[in-house]
Amino acid sequence: MDTQVGIVGAGPAGLLLAHLLGRAGIDCVVLEARSRDYVEQRVRAGVLEQGTVDVLTETGVGDRLQREGMVHHGIELRFGGEGHRIAMSELTGGRAITVYGQQEVVKDLIAARLDAGGPLEFEAGATEIDPSGGVVRYGDGGELRCAIVAGCDGFHGVARAAVPEAALTVYEREYPFAWLGILARAAPSSEELIYTHHERGFALHSMRSHEVTRNYLQVAPDEDVEAWPDERIWEELQTRMALADGSFTLDEGEIFEKGIAPMRSFVAEPMRHDRLFLAGDAAHIVPATGAKGLNLAVADVRVLARGLRAFFAHGDEAGLDAYSERCLRRVWRVQHFSWWMTQMLHRTGGDPFEAQLQRSQLDYVVRSRAAATSLAENYVGTELEDA
Ligand SMILES: Cc1cc2nc3c(=O)[nH]c(=O)nc-3n(C[C@H](O)[C@H](O)[C@H](O)COP(=O)(O)OP(=O)(O)OC[C@H]3O[C@@H](n4cnc5c(N)ncnc54)[C@H](O)[C@@H]3O)c2cc1C
Repeated sequence: MDTQVGIVGAGPAGLLLAHLLGRAGIDCVVLEARSRDYVEQRVRAGVLEQGTVDVLTETGVGDRLQREGMVHHGIELRFGGEGHRIAMSELTGGRAITVYGQQEVVKDLIAARLDAGGPLEFEAGATEIDPSGGVVRYGDGGELRCAIVAGCDGFHGVARAAVPEAALTVYEREYPFAWLGILARAAPSSEELIYTHHERGFALHSMRSHEVTRNYLQVAPDEDVEAWPDERIWEELQTRMALADGSFTLDEGEIFEKGIAPMRSFVAEPMRHDRLFLAGDAAHIVPATGAKGLNLAVADVRVLARGLRAFFAHGDEAGLDAYSERCLRRVWRVQHFSWWMTQMLHRTGGDPFEAQLQRSQLDYVVRSRAAATSLAENYVGTELEDA
């Protein structure tokens, strides 16, 4: 046996698992296909649930997050040219979200792992996993033998593919649109995120810091990013986000990151096969509208770390046996919320009946305290299970 837990993938799931196991004195090796520089620069999520912030802070990797993260107590839903605030903290007993880039979380976790002595191998992609033997083959002929393998290698990794097809049930939905996302050197034009429903399509105004904004536009799934020069992006954002009274203008600035991300819902279950445990995007994907992917990865590895602690301390397998079921309860809640937000806010083929239903749903959410509370408690994230 080379190590107790072989972790494939150094995204948020793999790195946080390594951190939690390290604190519990459990040996693990992290294998990552890409370079350190690449994973530290990869721009993705930026909205952290209250529970995610708590886990990072309580386990000693939240210092920079506490200093630099932007705490938000509400979001705005904008439709029909008017803005409506959902007072999340007021509706959820004080819970909030924190805006802090995923790549910053990744940097903090990599630093903690290396400070603790690793091991964390970059450019060491797994090529094959044997879920029964606990073997991971990687790089040019490397082999890692472990009691448990954690497949944290994202949606396109090798871990899920190592599970025999007949042992997995897959649930999937592709949406007929994608998100064009930009990062720009411009101060946020609002203190909170703005989710906009518009006849030309969805738009989101978000931010990464007091100097950098993150904006998204709904586009066709096969859209070519080259068809979107900077001026066109700003013009479309201004149009979709405009208020009827003309009082809103989005601050513009140099765009230094531009990309198109597909929108997909996906669950593969169960999340365990023999000695292999899938966590994060390796097991499930949500459309980004609910801002949940990273948070779900954190929730998974928290449950897994707890099961592994009992297993290595007393040979108690109950937590590992319950892993998949415990995670999937949250996964499906989040799947539903992410799907619900997505179908409420995106233009779907110009069907006028559908558009009326969306407006009615939005109207209800901002007028009914019960409906707003439901959105708020899902958005800030339901309580994590005990660690
Ligand atoms: C454009 C975009 C925007 C997003 N926005 C949000 C958001 O606003 N809020 C939110 O919560 N979520 C968002 N998400 C989703 C979120 O980024 C993911 O859910 C999150 O990264 C999942 O973490 P993970 O560790 O499971 O997977 P990943 O972050 O994908 O990490 C997997 C790691 O495994 C590595 N790997 C892959 N194959 C192998 C292999 N064979 N061997 C070794 N290593 C391997 C990869 O290089 C990667 O480092 C977004 C995603 C994208 C793409």
